[in-house]
Amino acid sequence: MIKANHRMPAPNEVPRTDCIRCGTCCKKGGPTLHAEDTPLFEKGILEKQHVYTLRKGEVVRNIDETLVVLEQEIIKIKGQAEAWTCMFYNDDQRRCTIYDHRPVECRALKCWDIREFKEVIARPRIQRSDLINSNDGILRLIDAHEQRCAYKTLELAVKGLEGPDSEKAVEKILDLLQYDHYMRPLLMEKLDLPYHTIDFFFGRPLTTTIRMFGLCVKEEGDSFILLPEVSHPAGA
Ligand code: SF4
Repeated sequence: MIKANHRMPAPNEVPRTDCIRCGTCCKKGGPTLHAEDTPLFEKGILEKQHVYTLRKGEVVRNIDETLVVLEQEIIKIKGQAEAWTCMFYNDDQRRCTIYDHRPVECRALKCWDIREFKEVIARPRIQRSDLINSNDGILRLIDAHEQRCAYKTLELAVKGLEGPDSEKAVEKILDLLQYDHYMRPLLMEKLDLPYHTIDFFFGRPLTTTIRMFGLCVKEEGDSFILLPEVSHPAGA
């Protein structure tokens, strides 16, 4: 399950009054970005390859650990490989490598007093269009991808698995997954997009996020097989 704002310490941790650089907040995931963070891109501190998009309709874990469906897309700093740890956290040195330029959520997050953090997460969040030139043709491709691979469409298809036309539902799901999967390398090549920017432009692959619906896929040659997800029933 994606955790949009899950960076608080566990309730049973010892209360603190100042930062002891334990790194817990940075290890629980990178921040979601807000309007105040846009200058970080202009200064080159953050680049598109450092962030990814959680699209409208994705299920995320809220600050109070409840699950919510995103009503609007958000942009987050990536983790380290498969770990949640923010990509800018240096575990050996126990420090943020962009500390002087850290995003607004990081500056507001004090695990002993979350009032400022709560106020910050309520502020406007940036979206892909805030970071892309309005004349850039990729905006039309992002829009087309949103129309074709909307999470609402995927959700309806998944619901169809329980209905009388489950075979058609499987076909629809696989069609969405394959479209999303194959258009990525194609666009990278045609538009000369760096590999690490693709999850910013088009969100995470549906072959990954399908886990939020309790499903996973196995690749066999050029096609996919749909399977029940056993280890992450509500996504990862
Ligand atoms: S940007 Fe820095 S302070 Fe913020 S989560 Fe990442 S490592 Fe921690």
